[in-house]
Amino acid sequence: MVRRLGLLALVGLSIAALPAPQAQFDLLITNARVVDGTGSPWFRADVAITGDAIAAIGHALPRTAARVIDAQGAVVAPGFIDTHTHARRGINTNPTAPNYVRQGVTTVIEGPDGSSPLPLGPFLDELDRLQKSVNIGSMVGQGSIRSAVIGSVNRRATPEEIQKMTAMVDQAMRDGAFGLSTGLFYVPGTFTPTEEVIELAKVAARYGGFHASHQRDDASKVLDSVRETIAIGEGGGLPTQITHHKVIGKANWGRSADALRLVDEARARGVDVTSDQYPYTASSTSIASALIPAWALEGGREAQRARFADSLTREKVLDGVAAMIRDERGGGDPKNVQFANCGFDASLTGKTLADATRARGLEPTIANAAVTTLWIVEQGGCQGIFHAMSEDDLIRILRHPATMIASDGEIPTFGRANPHPRSYGTFARVLGRYVREQGVLTLEDAIRKMTSFPAARLGLLDRGLLRPGAKADVVVFDPTRVRDTATFTDPHQYAEGFSLVVVNGAVVFENGQMTPARPGRLLRRR
Ligand SMILES: [Zn+2]
Repeated sequence: MVRRLGLLALVGLSIAALPAPQAQFDLLITNARVVDGTGSPWFRADVAITGDAIAAIGHALPRTAARVIDAQGAVVAPGFIDTHTHARRGINTNPTAPNYVRQGVTTVIEGPDGSSPLPLGPFLDELDRLQKSVNIGSMVGQGSIRSAVIGSVNRRATPEEIQKMTAMVDQAMRDGAFGLSTGLFYVPGTFTPTEEVIELAKVAARYGGFHASHQRDDASKVLDSVRETIAIGEGGGLPTQITHHKVIGKANWGRSADALRLVDEARARGVDVTSDQYPYTASSTSIASALIPAWALEGGREAQRARFADSLTREKVLDGVAAMIRDERGGGDPKNVQFANCGFDASLTGKTLADATRARGLEPTIANAAVTTLWIVEQGGCQGIFHAMSEDDLIRILRHPATMIASDGEIPTFGRANPHPRSYGTFARVLGRYVREQGVLTLEDAIRKMTSFPAARLGLLDRGLLRPGAKADVVVFDPTRVRDTATFTDPHQYAEGFSLVVVNGAVVFENGQMTPARPGRLLRRR
């Protein structure tokens, strides 16, 4: 028996040796500066891929591969992992996600800000079947759950409702959610007491999930909000993340120093709190969410309409809107609010709230802009872009070691509407503007914030690092040329400087073109 096995092995060997030298690897990227995702300094090596995994990394690998690509000294890094995206806006129409791939992103996570499809299972199954270029996974949204169980009303949940909501989190976690997202700024998240979030967070904790929060207030109460995000982590017994960490409103600028001190203090006592951030001083959400006080949005469309129709209440709403324009997302001036997408009037797209106010025959004062805002919401509303953050806060948050990069973007249809440029530029902007031009981060640390750090947050320990055995999500870019080109007035422009993007071992982008490959996978929390 032993002799027969030996003979078979011998025959096998001789067959393998017969044809011309067998390719040892499927793909070999040579002449690379490897930035491996750990934050360590780059090293010169070749990266070999076989199947969907990295087979070897070294500077004297055998040059026998089905395909050899000369990186010509460019950086080779793990594919970027984006923990906060609204990818369901576009993944079905644009399953190649070129805006993401062309800036090196190979994994996008959906379900942010307390908002996800429910139940999550069928949504994930559908994404699983979709032929796509990128890997995709999802959080489960607390706001969506509360909306389904209680509606968009401002009251406490009953014990039965808590039970229903925790059961829904439980199901979503078993379906493969990476954790619980909250949008405590939005309706109905804003009606949720912290203790209720903690009850739901405990369920996500049992499955090893994490919590990520679009905080209740990133403006005047930003420090209270950071304390709340930390409290949810502590009370829920799970990692907790301040998502798109920012400080809104001129009067609040500078408070990132205190916010980060709270993060440091919490981490020092053992709370696993982290942040993510997009590198822009403007945010984006709907005009209604950003500029209408939450109390005026309670109870859905009919309730809103009734409030707006009552002249006394309307005055109160307008006062609230004026305050939001003056002190919060309005950035203190109607020209700091820009329309990203207006369903009821496409011609408003790209214009500012000041433009729209003038077009209605009014001086663009804050009071008149409030009137215009309410009118816009009554017409059906728009998506907006809000210029209300400071560069100093942005840089301070970006530098913090517990901040990772995430876009908060979507998958736009090229040329349509006026989306926030973060969808096209986030990762390239960090590498171009904040690494090369301003030296805010080292290249290696920036890559860590895009790869191994988010991978660890998600528990995706087979991605985010260049290591033999890891999944072969790999990007190649020129650190002297990488840059974002998308702007607030001309957002549909792809990032530059990337020459190759590989997902699960298959090339999805090269020579400036998306390839026909669709190797993206649905990722579930294990
Ligand atoms: Zn958000």
